Amino acid sequence: ETITIQELANRMSERGVDVIRLLMKQGALHKITDVIDADTAQLVAEELGHTVKRVAESDVEEGLFDMPDAEDALESRPPVVTIMGHVDHGKTSLLDAIRQANVVAGEAGGITQHIGAYQVTAPNGAPITFIDTPGHAAFTAMRARGAKVTDIVILVVAADDGVMPQTIEAIHHAKAAEVPLIVAINKIDKPDAKPERVRTELLQHEVQTETFGGETLEVEVSAKEKLNLDKLLDAIILQSEVLDLKANPERSAEGTVIEARLDKGRGPVATVLVQRGTLHIGDIIVAGSQWGRVRALLDDKGAVCPSAGPSFPVEILGFSGTPEAGDRVAVVESEARAREITEYRERQRREKLVARGGGARTSLTDMMSQLKTAGRKEFPLVIKGDVQGSVEAIIAALDKLGTDEVGARIVHAGVGGISESDIALAEASNAVVIGFNVRAHKEAREASERGGIEIRYYNIIYNLVDDVKAAMSGLLAPTL
Ligand code: GDP
Repeated sequence: ETITIQELANRMSERGVDVIRLLMKQGALHKITDVIDADTAQLVAEELGHTVKRVAESDVEEGLFDMPDAEDALESRPPVVTIMGHVDHGKTSLLDAIRQANVVAGEAGGITQHIGAYQVTAPNGAPITFIDTPGHAAFTAMRARGAKVTDIVILVVAADDGVMPQTIEAIHHAKAAEVPLIVAINKIDKPDAKPERVRTELLQHEVQTETFGGETLEVEVSAKEKLNLDKLLDAIILQSEVLDLKANPERSAEGTVIEARLDKGRGPVATVLVQRGTLHIGDIIVAGSQWGRVRALLDDKGAVCPSAGPSFPVEILGFSGTPEAGDRVAVVESEARAREITEYRERQRREKLVARGGGARTSLTDMMSQLKTAGRKEFPLVIKGDVQGSVEAIIAALDKLGTDEVGARIVHAGVGGISESDIALAEASNAVVIGFNVRAHKEAREASERGGIEIRYYNIIYNLVDDVKAAMSGLLAPTL
């Protein structure tokens, strides 16, 4: 175990020259970039009056996230909602309508700004947080990075168009994340709106709305005419009461980066959703391989706030670099600790890049060995095909392959080219992507290379099934 003099100085918040001077007194001549061993480093640190705690590399992140809270410290928190659905069914319109209706009701002429998330007030006065970036790729990409942000998914379905491929995809994304749905049947102002048909079609995808005796709440809305938006907010509150969402506000903050960018005047700006604890000005935070001291907190109306509690989205100024959407945020006790963590992550990231060398992380062969060691007997797949008929035939054939010990789990199946969102879903679910008579879009291909997700192409069902069968048989426990 070794450390450079620069790094040692950083961790102690001392000047490099002071470390070099001290080493010189002991008779060793060094440059700032020189590497010294752990024992020497410990001596130096103690000489400079620091207490030394030596940790294994892998312990660097120990205790950073998810330390349990006492049951009685938990208080209810607002729900965090993401809107999903087929293109043009009105996701953006609905987000805007909810927000405008609320601003007008709240403060006259209030200006809102886009920070990636916003909070509104339900008719009963309870706050609700909306993630402002609709889309499945964003939702699942965050989840792939270990960030569970969304409590409730609003599935928007246009009443004049019905259930479409991306509606189905959204259902699968929400299911994979185990997040409950509320169905917003939109565009009911249109003369050709057929809300009943939407309910029936949803039933075919295992979404049973309340009207049909199921548990999924549904609300008929019009984003355009601002109809029933209050009812939708009421439904969200109802669902969140069922979920009994809680967090401890009295602890150091944890959260997730929703959006981040480099602002010309203000430097790195990140919107963070606080998930537990309370974030304060002056806190030292880490996110991915970036860290900083919170200089200012701004809400979605651009107002300065002194602190932000659970489910509250805030813009943070003070990061030294721009973190990435999906990075988890934690407060740490000192700058030295922040440096230690971010430098460790940066090293890890570089090592991983080298180790991966462009190879696929999730490949059929890898999956066999991984799943075998994990003792899991499921085989997650994302399947895209050219026509509904072939997709159904593939699913049926794969179903037949299943035994008591092992089976294919279709995370998502649909018609059309392989999209970026398919890759994100595969990444989050550790699945292999299969294309039958379809290709991957350019962005999807790039995403699969970045994430190391294997895409397999077939044009003969028999070959496809055969390969999956071979891979699955590798999962079976050896018979003794
Ligand atoms: P997104 O792709 O899901 O975000 O859909 P948009 O919000 O961009 O809406 C797509 C189109 O549908 C736009 O032309 C909207 O004006 C229209 N639209 C959205 N909601 C409604 C609605 O409630 N009623 C009607 N008549 N049109 C709507």
